[in-house]
Amino acid sequence: MFRESVRRFVKKHVEPYHNEWEKKGIVSRDFWLEAGAAGILCPNVPEEYGGSGTDFRYNVIIVEEFMKVGATGPGISVHSDIVTPYLLNYGTESQKSSWLPGMCEGRLVGAIAMTEPGTGSDLQSVKTNAKITDNEIILNGQKTFITNGQNADLIIVVAKTDPSSGAKGTSLIMCEGDRDGFKRGRNLDKVGLKAQDTSELFFDNVKLPISNLLGSKGKGFYNLMEQLPQERLAIAVSAVAAAEAAL
Ligand SMILES: Cc1cc2nc3c(=O)[nH]c(=O)nc-3n(C[C@H](O)[C@H](O)[C@H](O)COP(=O)(O)OP(=O)(O)OC[C@H]3O[C@@H](n4cnc5c(N)ncnc54)[C@H](O)[C@@H]3O)c2cc1C
Repeated sequence: MFRESVRRFVKKHVEPYHNEWEKKGIVSRDFWLEAGAAGILCPNVPEEYGGSGTDFRYNVIIVEEFMKVGATGPGISVHSDIVTPYLLNYGTESQKSSWLPGMCEGRLVGAIAMTEPGTGSDLQSVKTNAKITDNEIILNGQKTFITNGQNADLIIVVAKTDPSSGAKGTSLIMCEGDRDGFKRGRNLDKVGLKAQDTSELFFDNVKLPISNLLGSKGKGFYNLMEQLPQERLAIAVSAVAAAEAAL
């Protein structure tokens, strides 16, 4: 039944628009709101935060139904399967109740910014820096290849809080898309995934409240190691579904 409702959603709200999104290099904001209203964003978020409280199999069904028709544009897997778990696992009660309902409704689009122009696989080498004082975080640096980068309202930024401590000096900082000093760069032209906005992001002395630290200071690298397996699983699910559709 759930699969059938996702299929109907894709037929009505995705297939007719995907060519246009590919030309524009971005999915419309209306899509995100419609997906939220249809209950297909962040299904495994508990009901108290606006989700349906289901398990990861529902996320898999959503990815499969999008991939079956080649709908690679909407970055809902990054939003639901990758960003949401960080908030659920490391967020404070206040962070969860502030951000998760908006993510479930599609009012807030999520992104995670790890990669930098000089840092891809080797996440210990990120240069983006977050200075943390008692009540404030100041974020400086740049990221690239960030899925949902143009549409994102809420970005998990991987930053160094103690550059001399390697992995132990890495923290996760939440940056909202309307913060002063935050800028979006180019929406990158790619070989595929043409409708997905994959972008450069810049942080120039972005001032954030200390409540935007996600999890504990210095634990960011460990949090990434705990969550990246689900990211890889989600990518594998979409690759298998796309391959099955092609066959
Ligand atoms: C469509 C798209 C969407 C993306 N979305 C996001 C996103 O939302 N957020 C984000 O943070 N990033 C995102 N990325 C970036 C992606 O995570 C990086 O491309 C990836 O981490 C690899 O980094 P790199 O491209 O710098 O390659 P490199 O790290 O330079 O690696 C190049 C090659 O060398 C190999 N290699 C690297 N190190 C070693 C080693 N020590 N030993 C052996 N082999 C090695 C790698 O396996 C790879 O084959 C996205 C990329 C793409 C293409």
